[in-house]
Amino acid sequence: MPELPEVEVISRGLAESLEGKTIESVKILNHSSVKMPWYLFSSRVAGEKITRVHRRAKLLIMDLGEDLHITFHLKMTGRVLAHEGPTTPETHTRIVFGLTDGSSIEFHDTRKFGEVRALNNDELQEWDFYKNLGPEPLEVTAEELAGRIVGRKAQIKGLLLNQSVVAGCGNIYADESLFRAGIHPKAKASDLSKESLVKLFFELQAVLKLAIQENGSSIRDYVDAGGDAGGFQNSFKAYGKKGEKCPDCGKVFEGATVAGRSSTFCSDCQKMKD
Ligand SMILES: [Zn+2]
Repeated sequence: MPELPEVEVISRGLAESLEGKTIESVKILNHSSVKMPWYLFSSRVAGEKITRVHRRAKLLIMDLGEDLHITFHLKMTGRVLAHEGPTTPETHTRIVFGLTDGSSIEFHDTRKFGEVRALNNDELQEWDFYKNLGPEPLEVTAEELAGRIVGRKAQIKGLLLNQSVVAGCGNIYADESLFRAGIHPKAKASDLSKESLVKLFFELQAVLKLAIQENGSSIRDYVDAGGDAGGFQNSFKAYGKKGEKCPDCGKVFEGATVAGRSSTFCSDCQKMKD
């Protein structure tokens, strides 16, 4: 699933090619991709101008006019692609937006877990998922983020993945930041000092910034808005490296399911408590 850096890279690419353009037509090829009555979706967005493309957590958002937002939750395999000409739909094309200048936007989603909505300002603010999102990790300090979990009894990895604690972090950046901070994914936040938690969020911020610079991480089929793969997967230190040697101590990385997700860690370098 694309996480914060990948969605950020996609949104920057789309902003460049789409801002200022107007949607002329909408063709919905898979009704279940649209999480509202399809006719309402179509009638809301047709004729509207794309004023801004941005990201909140793992959501890609297109603002239309003053009071409408298309939200794309890409989930496992969703992609939003800007084409210079019309889109010729293929098997996994779910929605096509035709633009007045002859270009088009394609929502492509192999696994069909992606979710698309068109919401006005009030509906967006009242949407439970959106309303409960925690702060953007690159917009607040590591101290503030640490303050949200200090003393909590839950496992640290579960807290990192909890979108109401911090927005946009998924499995890749959780494993990478925990390794870089020397914290075991199963450690309880309450067993760690405030200093350790600040270091963890500092590492999370660093890894997210680095990944954005490198165009995101390409695992499975992630590509940016222009169809290019990311490069940060080449800088992974721990994620997906179960059975390989820890670059810091040489011990073999272990794997376990933590917070419902497969996790990789070095039991020598990553501590359970302070
Ligand atoms: Zn190690």
